[in-house]
Amino acid sequence: MNVEKNILRLTGSLPAGCRLVAVSKTHGADKIMTAYNAGQRIFGENRVQEIVEKQPVLPPDIEWHMIGHLQRNKVKYIADFVALIHSVDSVKLLHEINRQGERISRVIPCLLQVHIAEEETKFGFAADEVPDVVASEATAGLQNVEIRGLMGMATLTDDEDRIRREFRGLRELFDRVKAMPTPPNVQFTELSMGMSSDYQVAVEEGSTLVRIGSAIFGERN
Ligand SMILES: *Cc1c(COP(=O)(O)O)cnc(C)c1O
Repeated sequence: MNVEKNILRLTGSLPAGCRLVAVSKTHGADKIMTAYNAGQRIFGENRVQEIVEKQPVLPPDIEWHMIGHLQRNKVKYIADFVALIHSVDSVKLLHEINRQGERISRVIPCLLQVHIAEEETKFGFAADEVPDVVASEATAGLQNVEIRGLMGMATLTDDEDRIRREFRGLRELFDRVKAMPTPPNVQFTELSMGMSSDYQVAVEEGSTLVRIGSAIFGERN
């Protein structure tokens, strides 16, 4: 894999308004620096232990995004530096992120993860829960989180129509919530969808953040 070439090709092909999250999980500092030197500044990790190991040894202007399932008891380790948590999948987690933000006087940007795929998974809100969560009084009281939008993962399939339907459904939900009266800590600007295998469809359906790993860094072990 030519990491530099992949970064340039990808960033050159994304439309204005869509940013690349380079998913660097399992890859070392050397590969991350190659991407960094090609101009990449947003990196995504899915494990707390890995993101806390990498963050202090890499340049301070990197934006670290947490994209994987986050346990409540680990929020405290990333609260002071994480630029965006894509994977908020419960109200309890949202409250814990707020608690940690309060502790360090920081407003932590978050996305709500929505379960859009056919596959059974433990993670993510059901689409019909999202309007209630963002409009609830309990959410309005969370002064140390900002809910910036939604994240979703499509079904792992070759059926492009199915992937498109799932991304389109998430986009429609995003638009619906954006048009709702919501408290000041809900500011819908980001729609995180699309990975190596399906980002082109996601971009066509309105993604603002594509999370791409293997198409940049190669296959993971
Ligand atoms: C690993 C991962 C990605 C990137 O997957 P690739 O297929 O390597 O692009 C995107 N999103 C999440 C949540 C991931 O865990």
